[in-house]
Amino acid sequence: MSEKQSDHQLCPVASRCGGCQWVQVPYEEQLRKKAVRFRKLMEPFCKTEAIIGMEQPQHYRCKVHAVFGENRQHDPISGIYEEKSHRIVPIDSCLIENEKADAIIVSVRNLLRSFKIRPYNERTGFGLLRHVLVRTGYSTGQILLVLVLTSPILPSKNNFVKALLKQHPEITSIVIQVNDRNTSMVLGEKEQAIYGKGYIEDRLCGKTFRISPGSFYQVNPCQTEKLYGKAMEYAGLTGRETVLDAYCGTGTIGLIASGSAGRVIGVELNGAAVQDARINARQNRVENIQFYQNDAGKLLLQMAEQGQKIDVLFLDPPRSGSSQEFLTAAARVRPQKIVYISCNPDTLARDLKFLTGRGYRAERSVPVDMFPYTEGIESVSLLRSLS
Ligand code: SAH
Repeated sequence: MSEKQSDHQLCPVASRCGGCQWVQVPYEEQLRKKAVRFRKLMEPFCKTEAIIGMEQPQHYRCKVHAVFGENRQHDPISGIYEEKSHRIVPIDSCLIENEKADAIIVSVRNLLRSFKIRPYNERTGFGLLRHVLVRTGYSTGQILLVLVLTSPILPSKNNFVKALLKQHPEITSIVIQVNDRNTSMVLGEKEQAIYGKGYIEDRLCGKTFRISPGSFYQVNPCQTEKLYGKAMEYAGLTGRETVLDAYCGTGTIGLIASGSAGRVIGVELNGAAVQDARINARQNRVENIQFYQNDAGKLLLQMAEQGQKIDVLFLDPPRSGSSQEFLTAAARVRPQKIVYISCNPDTLARDLKFLTGRGYRAERSVPVDMFPYTEGIESVSLLRSLS
């Protein structure tokens, strides 16, 4: 990418969107800034390895969401909410979003008029189409389109699907979700597949994963493979270990580890994610894994009280990091190795401070750039028990 490209050329709405903080920063410079910030935060604990960047840092987001609405002339518009408001900033293409997904969203918008489908107007409460979500499989190329409507009836549904597929034969499934409530929640609760299976699948580190409209899946699968690759390298499994995958989502990390472990336990709070995790285990014919729907801290505390043994603990908590209950129980169960995958270096540093005060030593740490053009830093760290 030429460094002469100005902020405006790369993204005309950067100042109104707020999604990317570093549109004007050359990619090499972004990586340097992230590496420096991460190294500083990790300084009290261990040395850090070189940041793993992307060769092509644009259009990496495989999950794309557009809000639909109307302008003053009642023409349909689509884009994102302006930062901290409900005004829609019209967008046709985005620097970090998957390009096919963006093109599909524009086609949906262009078809609305001829099918007499009105976008939802937040002010008046009239209209049908509220949001469009496009999820793409990085290695399978499968594409799921989710139309979030205010009512379950899409006029001329079959012809609409036909017209859209004519322009985008690459779409593999279309789902209608109904969200008739006046909330800013994107996805609705009622769901109906009007074309294809209602979900897509993707392959990551040799395993296949089901991605339903609402389930969590890392937005940058290309970098996720590198992230999980590092996590497996740090874990150094030999085939005999008992492994806990905490905050496991749809079971990705545990399933990838299962081939090199004796037994894997996954724990996750979200029921839909646990359901997907169990399906993923069956589909990949993994038999040495068990998933529990529970608070990770509660489950680990139970394991500590029952004197259960874990050799390697993977944890991949949300931005807020882990809980004191979880970390205290972890120190009691005392796995030989803890592999901490983090999307927030501040809470990571807080949690490392806790664990290094409880008989663990941080040995290795590496930042992985999962979110180019933004300030986000993902990382993997390895801790080893001193006893
Ligand atoms: N490891 C997965 C998901 C990581 S996202 C992956 O890489 O795909 C973090 C996950 O933690 C989410 O799925 C969220 O539902 C879950 N979570 C949040 N709080 C939790 C808690 N207290 N106990 C268990 N899981 C929790």
